[in-house]
Amino acid sequence: MTGFNTRAIHAGQEPDPATGAVIPPVHLTTTYKQDGVGGLRGGYEYSRSANPTRDTLQTALASLEQGTRGMTFASGLAAEDTLLRTVCRPGDQVVLGGDAYGGTYRLISRVLEPWGVTHTPVDLNDLDAVRAAVAPENVRVVWCETPSNPLLNVSDIAALAEIVHASGTLLVVDNTFASPYLQQPLTLGADVVVHSTTKYLGGHSDVVGGALVVADAELGERLAYHQNAMGAVNGPFDAWLVLRSLKTLGVRMDRHSANAGRIAEWLLAHPAVGDVLYPGLPQHRNHDIAAKQMSGFGGMISFRLKAGEEAALRVCERAQLFTLAESLGGVESLIEHPHRMTHASAAGSPLEVPADLVRLSVGIEDVDDLLADLDQALS
Ligand SMILES: *Cc1c(COP(=O)(O)O)cnc(C)c1O
Repeated sequence: MTGFNTRAIHAGQEPDPATGAVIPPVHLTTTYKQDGVGGLRGGYEYSRSANPTRDTLQTALASLEQGTRGMTFASGLAAEDTLLRTVCRPGDQVVLGGDAYGGTYRLISRVLEPWGVTHTPVDLNDLDAVRAAVAPENVRVVWCETPSNPLLNVSDIAALAEIVHASGTLLVVDNTFASPYLQQPLTLGADVVVHSTTKYLGGHSDVVGGALVVADAELGERLAYHQNAMGAVNGPFDAWLVLRSLKTLGVRMDRHSANAGRIAEWLLAHPAVGDVLYPGLPQHRNHDIAAKQMSGFGGMISFRLKAGEEAALRVCERAQLFTLAESLGGVESLIEHPHRMTHASAAGSPLEVPADLVRLSVGIEDVDDLLADLDQALS
């Protein structure tokens, strides 16, 4: 297999056979001419079922995650919904990490629960607790987000895969924070990788999308059937934007990781800052696991303010180069207050996040400018 960056630029992306166009065209079409009834060219009949631009992205993502099949969707949550409703039936149970993305928790607890799919939060770092949680016969899925949002907990994917498979359950890894450049969960034993392509894969804060990549071809067939039957696909232009962004994923992630590493060290030494949550710091409670399964530590940092929630809100509001906004993974740096913003839907639940926590999505600007901005915001 060729290297990651070569695949990011070339996998599935042969020059267009009709014109030689080096860049895959945006196939803005809903339907395809048939050469006689049922005489499809390349299998295309209707763009919910298949579209060449989306197919190109799906092939590229499958290659980057080293899976057999990739599928892309209108959003990360659309991908998650399609996955969960493909593999779960009323009476089934999802076991999920104690600090999954707020929207994932909302989907499972508010949308799927009324349809009879229950959930059990578990600390994925406590392997005995995971063993106990997967013991009931009705557990279909263990949902692992690593690094997690916003607490940057890291779970041992290979260790989880062993436990989860012994119970005949699927291990799903939300790989949004790491991106396939830093971590490839399928190679560590996961069954399904989930992405919000809105984040690092899109990388420029201009497109919402999601993806699933699987190792097993039969599961891929079932998911692809539901992708078409449920219809939550992404449009061709959205697919093309992600495809364009994939080509620079490696260089972007290298810079995100380098900038975040510098900033995490700097925050650690700041008198107003309490805990700094960044898997690249040797002090991080899961640093060893992160170093074992990731090839870099990414661009996300969370930190706590010793003076509490008001201080956290003030930092978010005073920052200038760090834009106060939800989302993450773009080239520009963002700052936010998870308790009141991205994770407000987890308030009052076991997944509630501390109110003195600030989350940074560190972009690829010059790191000295980013440090100067944090310095004035914290002073
Ligand atoms: C944003 C996000 C999602 C949801 O994706 P959308 O594209 O917003 O639907 C899922 N998981 C993680 C870790 C995320 O950051």
